[in-house]
Amino acid sequence: MALLQISEPGQSPEPHQRKLAVGIDLGTTNSLVAAMRLGKPETLPDLSGRHILPSVVRYLPAGEVVVGDEARDAIFEDSRNTISSVKRLMGRGVDDVKTLGDCLPYEFIQSETEMPYIRTEAGDKSPVEISSEILKSLSVRAQETLGGDISGAVITVPAYFDEAQRQATKDAAKLAGLHVYRLLNEPTAAAVAYGLDRGAEGVHAIYDLGGGTFDISILRLNKGVFEVLSTGGDSALGGDDFDHAIAQWILKESGQECVGTSVARQLMEIARGLKEQLTDADSVNVNVDTGCFTWQGVLTREVFHSLVDPLIAKTVRACKRALRDANLGPGDIHDVVMVGGSTRVLRVREKVADFFGATPLCDIDPDRVVAVGASIQADVLAGNKPDDEMVLLDVIPLSLGIETMGGLMEKIIHRNTTIPVTRAQEFTTFKDGQTALAVQVVQGERELVSDCRSLAKFELRGIPPMVAGSARIRVTYQVDADGLLSVSAKELTSNVETNVEVKPSYGLSDNEVTRMLKDSFDFAEGDKDARALAEERVEADRQLEALRQALAENGEELLSADERKQLHQLMEALAISKQGEDSVAIRKAIDELNSTSEVFAARRMDKSINQALSGQSIDNLGEE
Ligand code: ADP
Ligand code: MG
Repeated sequence: MALLQISEPGQSPEPHQRKLAVGIDLGTTNSLVAAMRLGKPETLPDLSGRHILPSVVRYLPAGEVVVGDEARDAIFEDSRNTISSVKRLMGRGVDDVKTLGDCLPYEFIQSETEMPYIRTEAGDKSPVEISSEILKSLSVRAQETLGGDISGAVITVPAYFDEAQRQATKDAAKLAGLHVYRLLNEPTAAAVAYGLDRGAEGVHAIYDLGGGTFDISILRLNKGVFEVLSTGGDSALGGDDFDHAIAQWILKESGQECVGTSVARQLMEIARGLKEQLTDADSVNVNVDTGCFTWQGVLTREVFHSLVDPLIAKTVRACKRALRDANLGPGDIHDVVMVGGSTRVLRVREKVADFFGATPLCDIDPDRVVAVGASIQADVLAGNKPDDEMVLLDVIPLSLGIETMGGLMEKIIHRNTTIPVTRAQEFTTFKDGQTALAVQVVQGERELVSDCRSLAKFELRGIPPMVAGSARIRVTYQVDADGLLSVSAKELTSNVETNVEVKPSYGLSDNEVTRMLKDSFDFAEGDKDARALAEERVEADRQLEALRQALAENGEELLSADERKQLHQLMEALAISKQGEDSVAIRKAIDELNSTSEVFAARRMDKSINQALSGQSIDNLGEE
């Protein structure tokens, strides 16, 4: 499948000019930036050679901002101004944060806008601003290492992130001066790092155990596109819990009852060090000297495993649930990819292998694999690859449809459909003898055309006059690899055809897309009512029109004056209720008119059969 390169209008890349594109893993605990160097994707170190940037931001009174290891060191001494795990607050409203806020050491400020702010010594900061500091720091690092301006970035987000969380991430990037080629799901990035997108079609599990979160994603590779079949996990389970278990063990072994918070924090730091050493060593010496108590002992890998087994079992249960949600069993999984620093723990690998019955992929450093995958995608999107290596597909952000009778939006291509795509639908004429059809191309998620965006209008003319409902007009929507939409309409009995080209993917800013999506969710209920009303009105018009014609043709001949009067009254009643807003009332009027006009319809039927029979032999009829 050829790559779909989408460049901004007027910004198409010069051929032969390599662009500096980066992939960024904006994590809850740690963040990384990666880029293609000499044809290989690599994470980029800071000046002291550290690849991992702790996702911690500290604000100093003078307005100075410190990001990373130095900020993390101040988490306890300056907790109000030192913000960690800000990813948990992204795209959240003030109300969401109220519940979370009680457990956090920050002072939250109610704002007029939807966003919660954190009060720091350097002013009130939104989660978007705080995240942008992490992105800025990574962007500066990349410019220094790569020696040039960054043309764009692929930033990863959890697969379960909703529109608001994704939008907040994009806004943070904009604030950091980064051009976002696209957001990419973290599990997809990990799969891309292992080249699974170029492998056989199949289902893969991405097991991501980080510092404070666990995510399991079941992905299916289908025609070069990763579909998320299900996601699951635990937003409060990660390596921090491993540290906590070790700290508890130290307290128990050393006979300490309970200790103050500062000692507890020191123990957590010690525990993290022991845990990480146990990845390579069978046992480690424990030396605790907190000032409050001292203790020496040995922690073996065996004991460590017994401490974390209940935690790992929790993740396995989440895997089971995610598989069940996708209607699959462990045996259906082709590859299992290990992501997140905590999957370094050998016991985690063992238990995951046991559950899926397959050796998980862990050759690529699990801390870095997401950033690596993102950088591969970024390089492709920047246009640095020859065409035949391009495998990336894009989706349309908003549904494309057509206006039907009553001002309704009929979706032809649904949002998130991968492009290129062609979809056709058949329509028919509304009136007898109708020779033209107006096609209005609309984009959006709402039920009424007036709430969507009109992209184009054109007419199909020269339809041969036919009875209403017998013309067959096929309308075809085709979106090509560049996101260009062309629409054609063809009357199938006469082959009359017309078409237009429209450009749907440009002209709508991301904010507009988000607003339109948000509206479609907010108004879904009201829209359903509006659709019902519009549908009943169309049906009322159709009935009235048909009956008027029939009455004009043989009302006098087939109906008594009383019968005609009754029908006219019911038609009048329907015409009136059609003006109102009550779809149920219109339906009732239609039904009443229908049941009363049945007799008339039956008589008309008899008459036409008699006409057909007169002057024809039964034999002739049989041949028809
Ligand atoms: P996130 O995706 O949440 O930002 P990471 O994937 O960077 O987090 O994982 C961070 C966690 O990985 C921390 O709890 C850290 O202690 C743990 N970790 C890092 N290296 C090791 C190791 N060698 N052994 C065990 N745990 C590790
Ligand atoms: Mg992560």
